[in-house]
Amino acid sequence: MTTALAWFRRDLRLSDNPALCAALENHQNVIPVFIHAADEPVAWQPGAASRWWLHHSLVALDGQLQAQGSRLVIRSGRDSLECLRTLIAETGATQVYWNRQYEPQHIARDKAIKSSLRDALIEVDTFNAGLLYEPRSISKKDGGPFRVFTPFWKACLKTGLPVVDCLAPEQMPAVDSRIAGESVDTLDLLPTIPWDSDFPASWQPGETGAQEKLQAFIDGGVTDYEDNRNRPDYAGTSMLSPHLHFGEISPRQVVQTVSEFADRAVQPGVIANTEAFIRQIGWREFAHHLLYHYPHTSNRPLDTRFDKFPWRKDYADDLRAWQRGATGIPIVDAGMRELWHTGWMHNRVRMIVASLLVKNMLIPWQAGAAWFLDTLVDADLANNTLGWQWSAGCGADAAPWFRIFNPVTQAGKFDPHGHYIRRWVPEIAALPNKYLASPWTAPAEVLASCNLQLGRDYPAPRVDLKVSRATALERFQSIRNNPRTPPDPA
Ligand SMILES: Cc1cc2nc3c(=O)[nH]c(=O)nc-3n(C[C@H](O)[C@H](O)[C@H](O)COP(=O)(O)OP(=O)(O)OC[C@H]3O[C@@H](n4cnc5c(N)ncnc54)[C@H](O)[C@@H]3O)c2cc1C
Repeated sequence: MTTALAWFRRDLRLSDNPALCAALENHQNVIPVFIHAADEPVAWQPGAASRWWLHHSLVALDGQLQAQGSRLVIRSGRDSLECLRTLIAETGATQVYWNRQYEPQHIARDKAIKSSLRDALIEVDTFNAGLLYEPRSISKKDGGPFRVFTPFWKACLKTGLPVVDCLAPEQMPAVDSRIAGESVDTLDLLPTIPWDSDFPASWQPGETGAQEKLQAFIDGGVTDYEDNRNRPDYAGTSMLSPHLHFGEISPRQVVQTVSEFADRAVQPGVIANTEAFIRQIGWREFAHHLLYHYPHTSNRPLDTRFDKFPWRKDYADDLRAWQRGATGIPIVDAGMRELWHTGWMHNRVRMIVASLLVKNMLIPWQAGAAWFLDTLVDADLANNTLGWQWSAGCGADAAPWFRIFNPVTQAGKFDPHGHYIRRWVPEIAALPNKYLASPWTAPAEVLASCNLQLGRDYPAPRVDLKVSRATALERFQSIRNNPRTPPDPA
């Protein structure tokens, strides 16, 4: 009888979980383990919204394991290696299995753990479960990493879309009752002040919730994805991002299910829509590719001209207003409130709020990225870094600095009936559509007829969009000619 540890990390599912599959194939005893090492020096520890998600996802995973006759052994400690060593000593495990993570500091940690365990004659086997293509497996003809999405994605597709080759186990060996585990409650992942009351209405963390979201998207969204994906007033996207981040569903499962749906579909245009959706999964791959090859970019710009960008220094009040959805710019406030209440924000609105913060308010993108990492349930170092550097114009394949979103025009285009703004900024709901995205342009009698006074019922805009745009362009001129010398990839 041999015993192995199956170490769950950001792969909180039973199906398409190659580490779990291999452990079950090779050992009679398999102990599913989750380690909470909150002080471990990794690039970023989950923020408050992610911790909420993790709590519920662990409960769900344990429930699934129990239904299979097993259970999740949770341990917490100073570092993961120490916890693994203790578990190995207690259980007599001879091998540890895990699925790889690709953030630079996780790679370094895992390398160190692997070599320590091997020195102690414990076998380690690791797998890819979180990406379609591992970052080092895709490269340009000269062997270097890609910095532009389209050729990157072409190179990926050339190798073919990977398929799922490992199903969920039907039954698992019981875990010896002498092996103690902590209760998920002792990890203190849930907030002490209950700001999360709206989260359960939007989300069901765990593998079942992930599969249901995917099915709902296939039943109701994917066929119109191209038309609706930019509309925050529609449920036009999959909302799979937190499930993908926590590995409750794999990108392989998503892509395969969507591709099979496209193969079966008879309606015209389905393939274009499914391809557009799979391409978004491609952006997730690109984000991981970039962070892997340019590990410094989680807090430093890839485009080194921006190292010396003259950001404002006295921005605390504006940052707070942005965080609270009180900038006086309705589409921005709607997005920031959606984020606060649900832990998620529509992609189009993420781009709009980021542009306002970085370009109109001249607040460093890192401040916005940090807020997102704390408040998003799908907070993800690679995707968030890509999104913020794209918005700030300082990343790979980024929007140029001079492309400054006008939030009023954006609202008119992507929330044409004002449903999204009215939902999240109800205090201005009575305004006619014409003024909804720019209440400061409404004549006094219109404001009065809606019983609305700017500055009293809803903030006056904190920035003048025209003036701040001109200032942003001027500031860019000051760094334009700095050398653009991206450091060599790691
Ligand atoms: C400033 C900014 C910050 C962002 N921070 C994050 C983050 O922390 N975590 C995160 O998962 N996404 C982030 N994104 C990307 C994107 O907004 C979300 O992935 C998307 O809104 C999730 O909704 P969905 O699952 O319905 O997406 P869908 O449109 O259904 O797309 C399917 C999947 O593709 C991936 N995807 C889609 N768009 C992108 C993109 N632009 N970049 C990378 N992957 C993408 C996601 O995994 C998503 O779940 C950020 C974007 C911006 C502009």
